[in-house]
Amino acid sequence: MWQAIKSRSYKSEQCKIDREKLRVKVEVNDVVRNMQKELKLALSRAHPCPGCRQPNFKVGNNNHIFCETCRVHYCALCHTVVRKSKEHYGPRGCKQHTVDPDFV
Ligand SMILES: [Zn+2]
Ligand SMILES: [Zn+2]
Repeated sequence: MWQAIKSRSYKSEQCKIDREKLRVKVEVNDVVRNMQKELKLALSRAHPCPGCRQPNFKVGNNNHIFCETCRVHYCALCHTVVRKSKEHYGPRGCKQHTVDPDFV
């Protein structure tokens, strides 16, 4: 008799845990989906380094990007190595500051 009650309550407890697990799983899925979305958005804003192909990001609207990996400066607009930013950016070159379009 006692055994039966005990096992029944254990079962409902187990059920609660399963439901809890399921809820957590759904939340994790949401988080993963959000992360994928953000990653996609981030990658669409990333500018691969001309030297090592590593995606780097603009700092604000600055098109002058520094790659930590190969320690070069490059341009986010034309993706070429920038040796002298004063020569690269200017009225005849690239614009140093532009706002990236949103890819949402
Ligand atoms: Zn690099
Ligand atoms: Zn450029």
